Amino acid sequence: TIILGIETSCDETAVSIVRNGTEIMTNVVASQIESHKRFGGVVPEIASRHHVEQMTVVLEKAFENTDITWDEVDAIAVTEGPGLVGALLVGVNSAKALSFAKQKPLVGVHHIAGHIYANRLEKEFEFPLLALIVSGGHTELVLMREHGSYELIGETRDDAAGEAYDKVARMLNLPYPGGPHIDQLAAIGEETIAFPRAWLEEGSYDFSFSGLKSAVINKIHNAKQRGETLKNEDIAASFQASVVEVLTAKTLKAAKAYNVKQVIVAGGVAANKGLRRELETVFSETDIPLLIPDIKLCTDNAAMIAAAGTIAFEQGRRSGLDLNANASLQLK
Ligand code: ATP
Ligand code: MG
Ligand code: FE
Repeated sequence: TIILGIETSCDETAVSIVRNGTEIMTNVVASQIESHKRFGGVVPEIASRHHVEQMTVVLEKAFENTDITWDEVDAIAVTEGPGLVGALLVGVNSAKALSFAKQKPLVGVHHIAGHIYANRLEKEFEFPLLALIVSGGHTELVLMREHGSYELIGETRDDAAGEAYDKVARMLNLPYPGGPHIDQLAAIGEETIAFPRAWLEEGSYDFSFSGLKSAVINKIHNAKQRGETLKNEDIAASFQASVVEVLTAKTLKAAKAYNVKQVIVAGGVAANKGLRRELETVFSETDIPLLIPDIKLCTDNAAMIAAAGTIAFEQGRRSGLDLNANASLQLK
């Protein structure tokens, strides 16, 4: 099966072709980060305009990188949600136009299913499987008993992990997106501040990061008022220690409770070096295999959408030309 994937849910215009859901033939990502940087975050209207400008360029480039021709493409998979509605619409309408013009089936894909299936580009899944999703908009633990089936066992009650990273980074005057900058600072800092860990009720697999974010902000304000100097790298290291400890402990607990055969990590924050290291340490002491994809597959790309789309296509799922973008699409 050869699937062409399209992703435009946020600030990356991406097109990829994937064979059998596992082999990347071409994977082109045009990032708009430079255009949004001066605003300190993604500006939806600017994102949509860039997607319109970039779509045909990225599509052409994708075909330039591979010998695959349109004749060989079995279907087009596109992110239908969640994300910025104006951004999603560019991808969805491009996919619909291509589906009509090239007479290829269309498959709508959930963005987070894509993040999960980025892992299958590296290793075959074994079920039951636990996925830790940590991205700019999501922090979730998802149990998969088979391909294409997603059971939400825990999620954030407020901010997503990536969102907390980006907000704390803003407090430290670091450029957008702040996650990678905090990660770098944390590597040279020390955990000198005891920030809270949000464990929530006993047995809960939910997360909460807004209390931690407020604790960081208060700490910075109080230090300023008292004329104390806190090192940015120590704030970063202390913040990251709290995030990493809770994410790792809850993932480990759920993996054992559900007796899973594999744990996978997905989403932009999976690129975090501290999180990768801690998960690797903790899971190396168990017999549960842990899979964290290469960093370029953690952040938004279209190979992951094609990979998730392959399973949906093989399971017979099709979207019509009435497919619409859905900013708050549920994973199911
Ligand atoms: P969603 O996937 O939930 O719709 P999104 O697509 O915007 O949201 P991703 O592209 O998956 O999110 O991830 C982007 C997020 O990952 C940003 O919040 C960014 O700061 C964070 N991030 C990227 N690299 C790192 C890192 N090394 N450490 C921590 N956070 C990181
Ligand atoms: Mg992004
Ligand atoms: Fe994403």
